[in-house]
Amino acid sequence: MSQESPVVVVGGGLAGSACALALAGRGQRVTLIEASAMLGGRVASIQLPGIERPIDNGQHVAFRIYGRFLQLLATCEARDIIKLQKQTKLPYLEVEKGTISTIRSGNLPPPNHLSASLLNVSFLKLGDKIAMQKVVKELYKMDENRRRGLDDTTFLDWLRNSGQTERSITRFWDPLVRTTLNIDSSQASAASAAFIFKRGLFGEADAFDVGSFAKDLSKSLSPALRRTLASAGVEVQVSTPVTSLYREAGRVTGVTTRDGMIAASTVILCTPSSVTARLLTGSGASVASHEVADRLAGLGNTARIAIHAFHEGPILPAGTHFVSCCDEPIIQTLFDRSAELDDGERGGLPGHWMSVLVSYADPYLDWDDELIQNEYERVIETAFPQAPGIVSFHVIRNKHATTSLRIGAQRLRPDPLDAGEGVILGGDWIDIDWPSTMEGASRAGLTAAAALLEQRGNAEFRGWKHDSEWPDWPEAPRRGAEGWREW
Ligand SMILES: Cc1cc2nc3c(=O)[nH]c(=O)nc-3n(C[C@H](O)[C@H](O)[C@H](O)COP(=O)(O)OP(=O)(O)OC[C@H]3O[C@@H](n4cnc5c(N)ncnc54)[C@H](O)[C@@H]3O)c2cc1C
Repeated sequence: MSQESPVVVVGGGLAGSACALALAGRGQRVTLIEASAMLGGRVASIQLPGIERPIDNGQHVAFRIYGRFLQLLATCEARDIIKLQKQTKLPYLEVEKGTISTIRSGNLPPPNHLSASLLNVSFLKLGDKIAMQKVVKELYKMDENRRRGLDDTTFLDWLRNSGQTERSITRFWDPLVRTTLNIDSSQASAASAAFIFKRGLFGEADAFDVGSFAKDLSKSLSPALRRTLASAGVEVQVSTPVTSLYREAGRVTGVTTRDGMIAASTVILCTPSSVTARLLTGSGASVASHEVADRLAGLGNTARIAIHAFHEGPILPAGTHFVSCCDEPIIQTLFDRSAELDDGERGGLPGHWMSVLVSYADPYLDWDDELIQNEYERVIETAFPQAPGIVSFHVIRNKHATTSLRIGAQRLRPDPLDAGEGVILGGDWIDIDWPSTMEGASRAGLTAAAALLEQRGNAEFRGWKHDSEWPDWPEAPRRGAEGWREW
């Protein structure tokens, strides 16, 4: 197919949208094809029975270290949908006691910016804290070869070998691994888990400033992406599932939809891993494509369960917008979603909105709603005996929420050009170290775009890596950056 045909990006989640925008900004003709009616992919709201307005498919949390995702929002003039903490504050709830103590960033440089508050929190004992200090330094100093070499070790084994106490594992290390990698430490690749702590929590003083969505997920993100893609000249086709890749003489030269074939100079797949594997193994697919599909199947996914409880009034103390619940396998974190939302965004809710994201929810997928509600009520009634009652309660199960980062995952994650056939890979599962997150997706999309530009001889993108800035994109916001909302 000639260079005159557009680049076809399949999948309009964050990866596909970032990829399409980045390519259009470098003069490429791009068509973006999305199966559903909205852009934004897994960052979505859905309609629940009995509720007037759409509700998050699951709580979505950003961090200040999500530089590329925040830059994507800035490119789309959508800075206002996120509010970032002015200072890292991670509150922990001891459910039995009903007490909250908070890890917060102080004035010391990383990796010691959390040390002073860590010494004061009540949910860890002095012995836990002393052992943790040693590991914090080790993670901070760990070089990249050593980190990537830990892919066959579970993070739990690594923590135990590093002298961590069981309490610090269950109350500090494991909950953070679950939230960020969506898998528990007994299965997580130590390479992936170490990345989170080395680059994230202990890497930079402001890295873990939490970012909350102040608006509806789909209603704010999808129109902003569509508007920006259109003004960049990207042709967007929504409600158009790609059914197969079109191959001629060993090369993919287009995609097939129910409306026919769309010719492409290059096809970039930013679809979920299972869909990508199916498209890569269509009739006439190359050995390399089959190998990538096998690797994606080997990676697999892990689940998340979203709980939305609407109460007669607020649960958490004023000024506390979320808490991590110590020693709770299901009700891991409580978010006051009503407090996060802007005033004008609360219309149509049946009550005060509390949201729980159950990470690595695979063991609980077959629990019925009543059992999950019992767990929720037990935690709320124990920690907050005066809590206002529940008006309505909903459970959403996302079986394939994220790519699984079990041991050995790093080896299975493909590079953008691994499938050959003229196809480029760009979903949140490609090998960019970042876990399957909004930031991972944004970086994956840019990595795919850079791979194509390099192929097309653009010297600016020779050897481009996702840690490099994308030329022309606005800066990622440091604390106090103009135009960004903080709280
Ligand atoms: C419940 C839940 C909670 C989460 N919480 C967080 C969080 O707190 N923080 C965080 O950073 N991340 C979170 N994530 C993960 C994050 O949402 C994803 O990692 C990220 O959005 C993935 O982006 P993506 O573009 O790679 O893939 P997707 O968002 O899955 O986008 C792929 C797109 O491809 C489309 N598509 C599929 N098949 C076809 C086809 N045949 N033809 C055309 N298009 C197709 C899909 O409709 C979709 O729009 C969460 C995910 C879930 C499910």
